[in-house]
Amino acid sequence: MELLNLLFPPRCPICQDVLEDSKSLICEKCYKKVIFIKEPFCFSCGKQLEDPREELCFDCKKHPKSFDKGRGLCFYNDEMRVSLSAIKYHNQRDFVKFYAAEIKKQKKVLLNWNVDLIVPVPLHLWKQRKRGFNQAMLFAKEIGNIINKPVDDKFLIRRTYTTPQKTLGPMERVKNLEQAFAVNQKERKRVGIPRSVLLVDDIYTTGATVESCARALKKVGVQKVYVYCIAIGRDI
Ligand SMILES: [Zn+2]
Ligand SMILES: [Zn+2]
Repeated sequence: MELLNLLFPPRCPICQDVLEDSKSLICEKCYKKVIFIKEPFCFSCGKQLEDPREELCFDCKKHPKSFDKGRGLCFYNDEMRVSLSAIKYHNQRDFVKFYAAEIKKQKKVLLNWNVDLIVPVPLHLWKQRKRGFNQAMLFAKEIGNIINKPVDDKFLIRRTYTTPQKTLGPMERVKNLEQAFAVNQKERKRVGIPRSVLLVDDIYTTGATVESCARALKKVGVQKVYVYCIAIGRDI
């Protein structure tokens, strides 16, 4: 283990420098740059509300969600964007350890949802083959360990190629993704229909992706769908 640390010294998930204290998971100065989501939460998606008198965020008021409840770990700021893409595109899987330790602090919320199955938002098969892994699955596995529930990355499949979401408005995004997710029939036969599912993704901005997944799950009879994301956008 020590040799491994010499060859690949643990790095900070934010500045990506080698950690001075190899026992810590993040530098002190960088910890301040991770802004954790606090109350008041949007009753639906879990975004931090700008106005505490509201029950729903601007987006959920405009586009009601099919999932039952969501929660995010921290704000999707520039630091998070860089950190999460380092995991995704530069294979910095070690960074997940820091996020897992923070998710653990929300164990109570996750346990309260009482889910039967944890499902990561799937990638296109060809994308996953190219990348070698699905980053949502890395987080889903950690959550599975924390709440001791099964994780299934075959339950949902991403089936059609979709136009890049960035080029579309929120409603178009949902439409574009509507057909993109489906429950894998083979897996459904094997594990049955869970009563409740926890969907896991790394980033939540408009929520269009998890919305489409939630619709696909409810269509086959999943009663409750919860959503957990690592980084979540602001209430605007
Ligand atoms: Zn740092
Ligand atoms: Zn909301």
